[in-house]
Amino acid sequence: MLNFVEMNISTTDTIKIRRITAQLQKEHDRLRAKFKFLKFQDFIGLGLLIISVFGILVSSYLWFVGVMSTIVLVLTIAFWNSILHELEHDLIHGLYFKKVKFLHNIMLFTVWFFRPLTLNPWIRKYWHYNHHQHSGQPIDIEERGVTNGERWGFMRLLITADLVLGFVFRVRRLKREIKQEKINGNFSDKDSKMLKNTVLFGLLPFGIPLHILFYCWILLKSLLYLNLVSTNYWTNEFMEIANVIIYIFVLPNLLRQFCLHFITSNMHYYGDIEEGNILQQTQVLNSWWTWPFQLFCFNFGSTHSIHHFVVNEPFYLRQMSVKKAHEVFKQEGIRFNDTMSFKNANRYGKR
Ligand SMILES: [Zn+2]
Ligand SMILES: [Zn+2]
Repeated sequence: MLNFVEMNISTTDTIKIRRITAQLQKEHDRLRAKFKFLKFQDFIGLGLLIISVFGILVSSYLWFVGVMSTIVLVLTIAFWNSILHELEHDLIHGLYFKKVKFLHNIMLFTVWFFRPLTLNPWIRKYWHYNHHQHSGQPIDIEERGVTNGERWGFMRLLITADLVLGFVFRVRRLKREIKQEKINGNFSDKDSKMLKNTVLFGLLPFGIPLHILFYCWILLKSLLYLNLVSTNYWTNEFMEIANVIIYIFVLPNLLRQFCLHFITSNMHYYGDIEEGNILQQTQVLNSWWTWPFQLFCFNFGSTHSIHHFVVNEPFYLRQMSVKKAHEVFKQEGIRFNDTMSFKNANRYGKR
């Protein structure tokens, strides 16, 4: 269990947090008692991994032989990848084969291989634990990396899906802010070292080359479309190879990342919340208009708040407990569909 900072939080809020956590835990216990198969947690995780990878391979084959259209391929793989994302998060929290390191690492590598635009999961683990401890603070690198706390506009829209552009366009400002946090004593030397490693190696060997390939692909496609380049042997060769990689690995992940980053960066609050106060860290984002996004991030907007209170439960259990959890959240005043936070860069503010 992570050690949440409870200093500076009012007694009323501390009691509320304990009450919510206890009720959610009780619901999870009830589900575990009712559905006995849930005890085979390691194998459920492995099973879901195998099914998702099989789904991706079958879709790719059907597309390759011309049975499946490209758009259906991209949508289908984005959906399977949303399950792989949840599995990665569960693996980061040590929920599958924690003691069988070899298998645990194979699973972690597999979910990365099929979502190759993402950060190295062994590095992400550090920032994800940091997210739990400092959610909504300037040093919450994981959420800030996916635009949490930025003002909404064309720039945020552009960088919501693309981690590389998000870094390139904001590096100077973020560097300045992190430097200040270091002076304030909130960012340790270990954090700084880790951040340096993240920037240098986090998107290697997959992420950076694939982003470059994607930009070249867009450029060449545009030049061909505008007749500024004529089709020849080399453009045909490039497109034939690039299309396979772009349609199977890049576009589904950009779509999935856009949906996940849009939901997560807006359901977490930023900047004006008390450190460690779980009541203020998230809202539930499950309005009807969020459904196209939820489809490719496995209902993240509905369920991620549960995870902030009860960390060590797998994602499918959160889906099963969502009805009860929302009842509890409503009773205790957790916000639902607070669109005001879109207007003021995810600030909690007074409502
Ligand atoms: Zn987590
Ligand atoms: Zn979170």
